[in-house]
Order: sequence, then C-alpha cells, then structure tokens
Amino acid sequence: MALMGQMMSMPLLISSLIQHAARHSGDTEIVSKRVEGDLHRTTWAAVELRSRQLAQALARLGLSAGERVGTLGWNGYRHLEIYYGTSGSGLVCHTINPRLFPEQIAWIANDADDRALCFDLTFLPLVEKIAAQLPQVRHFILMTDRAHMPAQTAIPNLRCYEELVEAEDGRYVWPEFDENTASSICYTSGTTGHPKGAVYSHRSSVLHAYGAALPDAMAASRRDVILPVVPMFHVNAWGLPYSTALVGCKLVMPGPHLDGKSLYELFETEKVTFSAGVPTVWLGLLNYVGANQLKFSTFKRTVIGGSACPPAMLRTLMDDYGVDVIHAWGMTEMSPLGTLSRLSSRQLELPQEQQRRLLEKQGKAIFGVDMTVVDDAGRELPWDGKSSGNLVVRGPWVIESYFGHDGSPLIRVAGADGRDAGLWFPTGDVAAIDADGFMQITDRSKDVIKSGGEWISSIDVENIAMAHPAVHEAAVIAVPHPKWDERPLLVVVRKPGEAGAALTREDVLGFYEGKIAKWQVPDDVVFVDEIPHTATGKMLKLKLREQFKSHQLPGC
Ligand code: AMP
Repeated sequence: MALMGQMMSMPLLISSLIQHAARHSGDTEIVSKRVEGDLHRTTWAAVELRSRQLAQALARLGLSAGERVGTLGWNGYRHLEIYYGTSGSGLVCHTINPRLFPEQIAWIANDADDRALCFDLTFLPLVEKIAAQLPQVRHFILMTDRAHMPAQTAIPNLRCYEELVEAEDGRYVWPEFDENTASSICYTSGTTGHPKGAVYSHRSSVLHAYGAALPDAMAASRRDVILPVVPMFHVNAWGLPYSTALVGCKLVMPGPHLDGKSLYELFETEKVTFSAGVPTVWLGLLNYVGANQLKFSTFKRTVIGGSACPPAMLRTLMDDYGVDVIHAWGMTEMSPLGTLSRLSSRQLELPQEQQRRLLEKQGKAIFGVDMTVVDDAGRELPWDGKSSGNLVVRGPWVIESYFGHDGSPLIRVAGADGRDAGLWFPTGDVAAIDADGFMQITDRSKDVIKSGGEWISSIDVENIAMAHPAVHEAAVIAVPHPKWDERPLLVVVRKPGEAGAALTREDVLGFYEGKIAKWQVPDDVVFVDEIPHTATGKMLKLKLREQFKSHQLPGC
C-alpha cells in the first residue's frame, strides 16, 4: 500500500494570500488613483480588514456561498477588497469588462447569474441603462462614499459601498473549504458565438499566483513596486492582485487614468519598478515619454502580452530606456499565464541580435503549464522551430470546461511516439516551438480580431452587416494596425440589383450605429464580387487575410 505524506492538509485558499500579506507585509502600501480624482493610500493590513468587513456586509445582504458577485471596476483598492471579500468568503468574484456593449454586459451578468453588482462611479450611467435587464441582481452597490452617491438614480435601492463596509466590525474569520471551490469567473469572447465563462478555483488561482511570481516569470519580490496596467477585468489583471499579496510588495493602481502622462507621473512619484500590460498601452506611454524627452527613474521590468509585442517596442524599451521586456503569452482559459520569454545562462552568451530574436518570441512554458503543437489530426509535431501547428496546453490552471456548457473543449493528442498523450486544451493559436522550447505564435485559427487587447467577435460584426438589405455576403478580417495591433476590415459582396449597386461604405458603417460598441465597428469596407469559400461552404478567411494584409486603413 502507498505510504501517504504526513504534511498538514491545508487547502490552498485565496484568503490565505491576503492573510499572509496582512500578517507579514501589513504596513506595505497600496496606492490607488481614484475615480473620484484623488490619490488614495492604504496598506495590505487595512485592505484585509476591509475585505473581512465586506464579507460580513455581503453575508448580511443575504448572499451565500457559491453565488456570483459581478464587478464593473477599474484597478483600485475597493476592487481589490471585492476580489478578497467575495472569493475569501466563498462567493465567486465575476469581473465584467465594462468596455463591452451594454447588451453584452447584461447578457454576461445574466449568464453568470450574478446576484449582486458592484461598480465604480464611471459606470453609473451604464448600470442605470441595463439595471432593468438584470432581474437576478438583488443588490446594486456603488463603489464610492456617501458624499459621491447620486441624489437621484433609476437604480432601485442603490447601495453605498463605504456605508456597507463601515457598518461592519470586521470580526470575521475567513472560512476554510475545499480548495477546488470556484473563486472567480471571467468571460472571454475569444471564440465565436456568445462569450463563455472560465471558472477559476481557489487552488488554480493560488498555484497560478506562485507560478507568476517565479524568477523566470514576473520575478516579483517584496522589493518591487508593482503597477498592473492590465485591468482587473482582464483575466484578474494576469493574477497580479494575488501575486502581489503573495510576495507582499507595494501595489500601485492607476484607476481609469491609462494615458501616457498619467501613467508616467504615477510611475515616477510612486517609484514603480515593474508593470504589465498590452502593447497598445505601452505605445501611449512611450509616445509621451519620447515627446517630452523623459527617462524612467525606477522602472526596470515589464511584462507585455495579450497581443504580440512589436519588436520595435521591445527594442525601444530595452535600448533607450533600460527596461527589461518580458514578452508573455496566455489566455483567459489559462488564468492566463502560459509562456514568458526569459533567457537561460547559455542563451545570455549568444550575440545580442540572437538574444533579441528569442526575446521577441512568446517564450517558454512556465511550470504549471505544459504545451505542444499538433497537426489537424491531433498528432504532435516536432519542436524544430519550423513546424507550425495548433498550440495545445494542459495544467492545473487551464480550464477543463466552460461555465454552463456541457461539452468538453479538450482534444485528444497523440504524442510524437504515437502513444496517447491524453486530453489537452486547444488554444486556437497556431505556433512553432524550437528545440529549446521557445514558442512563437505564427497565426490564429480562431476567427476573432484583437484590438488594443480587446476582442471583437467576427460573427457579431458579420451578422450585423448581413442584416443590411443591400448586402449579399460579408466577412470581417483582422488587418495589422500600428496602434491597435489589429483592426477589423469588412469585406462585402453587394446584393444584385439597384439597392446593391447604390450601397456605399458609409451606408454599411452607419448601419452599425447603436448595435455594437464604437470600437468594434470596422475601420473600413471593401467591396468584392465574391468571397472565397471552402468545399463545405465556410468563408476562407485565410485567403482574405492574405489578400488584404496590406490594405491601407483610413488614418494610418
Ligand atoms: P485573452 O483570452 O483575451 O487573454 O486572449 C488570449 C489570446 O490573445 C491568445 O489565445 C492569443 O490569440 C492572443 N495573445 C495573447 N498574448 C499574445 C502574445 N504575446 N502574442 C500573440 N498573441 C497573443
């Protein structure tokens, strides 16, 4: 019979992260640029206490274990308290992307069955608009103090966050429960159709927090001052609210102020050493710093991911500003970290140009994630840096299923030796892996567009165009864009007859008004006689992407 380990059986719980930070780094600062306009300072100990008060308040409102609490919030200490106050007490924190169209936000909140919704002042008009579409939400909580509560609102029984928290005494003991319990949920529109929820567990989140902090990942330490630019509504800000508690470092949060000037000032005044975000944000920061001939005094390291980091950006940050760039790849379904580009001691001896070429790749798998590339039949391809295939992953922080969906997204993989290698999650990315295990994304098989780190679902955009009476067929494809990485281009076949002949670019674009968010509307329209199709009738997007890859978008 197997001999069992004789270690304490303590579940990996999110509450243990904040308790650790409060006990061992209690007076370390948490600084937030508030929606209300000022700079707010608190500590890990105070955030932990207020998270307990929040847990008491939510229980008093009648919320019980397993129920979802939605958030529409920027990066700030109140959002952090909601992360811990909900998950820590057994509720499920559901961060919603406020950049989506109101109907989509309502759809997501209903799909997750949110029972309470906490939101920043910025989103009061948005929530007023959708409140009536959220019959299951019993409590609307405005994340502000009494002084900033609106005198009048269409939201029934709107509650004040500060009043709820301050009414409690904090005499609350974080409960212990199964580490596989759901802790948070994030929706991704990274696939076609409706967005789908990835449900993280306490165990997966704590393991991911450990992994993310490792030296060859984000190398987070208590000597760092970390400013997550990546929003807390994008895959839990890549786990930084957890990893920063785990290492007990100073945390700085920019609120809604993500322009180059605001970020630079915050970096300098708070002595930020490390940050993380999508390429579009760094472009804004670099433009500001370049135009004003500024340098960074303390900023030393940054993770860039969510979209491919442009090589020029990597080089500018490294050569002109002395900032180490860690190119990373991951996805919502992976909590999100998968790979990071960090060199081994052997690679550090290579000529600089070769080192740079490696750093431009998406990098090596972090422990906790296994990855490989397979052909369309699920057979593993060689790691030779040339064989491009479907990138598949597995690990304790990779999803097994989507929230509320019966079928499994996993696929069976046959190893290079022909043996069954078990079930893996297909990422929808196409990549090659070299002999050193460096992965490089070469394409994407999923039919979506990623603009400034946000998804645009091709199906939604196409369906609207197809509803236009003068459109016969429409396809939307991604074309490269210097600022947003990708932007949608609509390819249209006109209906035969008069109406079709009279159809203009402006007619089609005007048709999107009020139907989707402005940033999801295509930048341009091209008219063609025919869209190429496969034998089974599917539009051949690859061919279209190739045909229009040099298309000049207006304003570029
Ligand atoms: P999300 O679920 O919104 O985090 O998006 C995940 C997807 O973004 C991945 O499957 C990729 O298609 C894309 N992505 C993320 N990071 C990178 C990167 N470093 N390079 C290229 N694509 C990326």
